[in-house]
Amino acid sequence: MRIAVIGTGYVGLVSGTCFSEFGHDVVCVDKDEKKIQALKNGKIPIYEPGLDDMVKINAEAKRLSFTTDIGEAMEDAEAVFIAVGTPTSRRGDGYADLSYVYAAAKEIASHIKKYVVVVDKSTVPVGTAREVKRIILGENPKATFDVASNPEFLREGAAIDDFMRPDRVVIGVETEKAEEVLRQIYKPLYLIETPMVVTNLETAELIKYASNAFLAVKISYINDLSGLCEKVGADVVSLAKGMGLDNRIGKKFLHAGPGYGGSCFPKDTLALSKTAKDHGNPLRIVEAAIEVNSSQKARMIQKIREILGGSEAGKTIACLGLTFKPETDDMREAQSLTILPALIERGAKVKAHDPHGMAEAKKMMPEIEYADDAYSACENADAVILLTEWNEYRALDLSKIKKMMKGEAFIDLRNAYDPKTIHDKGLQYIGVGRRS
Ligand code: NAD
Repeated sequence: MRIAVIGTGYVGLVSGTCFSEFGHDVVCVDKDEKKIQALKNGKIPIYEPGLDDMVKINAEAKRLSFTTDIGEAMEDAEAVFIAVGTPTSRRGDGYADLSYVYAAAKEIASHIKKYVVVVDKSTVPVGTAREVKRIILGENPKATFDVASNPEFLREGAAIDDFMRPDRVVIGVETEKAEEVLRQIYKPLYLIETPMVVTNLETAELIKYASNAFLAVKISYINDLSGLCEKVGADVVSLAKGMGLDNRIGKKFLHAGPGYGGSCFPKDTLALSKTAKDHGNPLRIVEAAIEVNSSQKARMIQKIREILGGSEAGKTIACLGLTFKPETDDMREAQSLTILPALIERGAKVKAHDPHGMAEAKKMMPEIEYADDAYSACENADAVILLTEWNEYRALDLSKIKKMMKGEAFIDLRNAYDPKTIHDKGLQYIGVGRRS
């Protein structure tokens, strides 16, 4: 099958590459010329494990190509996927900014020459697929097409595996013809018996938001409990284990930490709560999760301040990890962007390291000193913050760190270490929801 993918970011590039790995002919489009030129030269613009090899193999096999020209990409395409960004609106009101989706729809419209399925893969509020249809018909009343919704559930850092072995594929359609095209595209997953949820457009659009919001609620729940654990002398890691071993609850997304970040949960919870309010059905649980998440970040800043004796002024803080989670270079809504500037504003000096996030972080936080490795970040530090649990930070030489530091506070915002291990090295352990 011939497929066009509009938007070659984290989702578009992974989806397009994996579709070509399935055996389809895929053309990925982006309006960012530099990105497309880099991809044509075999350079992958993001850090995503395994992606570079897969792009290379499929590009060499001529199943995967890149262009800035939508018309060229849509030539003979049976499906065109919209995978452009849907960030929080710049107005700051929490709504999703759909301008990129609608601009893509307009461009698609003028290139429809024969029947094609226009599929929303971007995360979009209920009603967007119908609006895309209206825009296309407005631009090109004679266009023969169907719209469909096929939300994406991949996680950055595990994107290829998530795409190639998804828990489910969700398809929202209005016609059997569109359903058939999408079933054909995902047919290679038949062998691994991937469940397909075929439903209407609105339900498919809502499944994505409802799923992300549920996971955000789960994280905020354990984060809320972490505060109580600190007050009553309970340990949140054992608490989560004791809860999570119950199959009805499950242990995933029950790790207390500095609050969720990233390019999805913060914006998707906000957008869902806006949609719900607009329809006179506020989702109070989602609203509470959003509120708990921002107070958790504030609580982390307060925790660090207290450990430093009530003031950050003149203190040197080492920060290990800047991205919102390991195995990605994505800095969007990373927790570090809230926590570190707050410390710097009160007079702290921050030295940071991240295995893959520093290039992007430097643009967003030029006021930080960036170190070549974890140990040089810790030199003369009054406190070390473990902010992102990259594998390379999980077995640090703590004796070496202790020797290099001025102070002895080891603030483990991911509960990645056993407190005793830290104490045995002469450091003070401060976790989230655990006894110091
Ligand atoms: P991104 O910002 O990495 O990529 C979007 C790309 O679209 C950019 O390269 C941009 O230049 C391009 N673009 C914008 N308008 C265009 C146009 N008219 N023509 C061609 N290219 C255009 O975004 P992303 O993280 O890949 O997210 C895309 C969508 O997928 C969002 O709705 C997001 O919520 C959703 N999503 C993201 C993830 C994730 O982990 N990043 C997971 C699931 C779903």
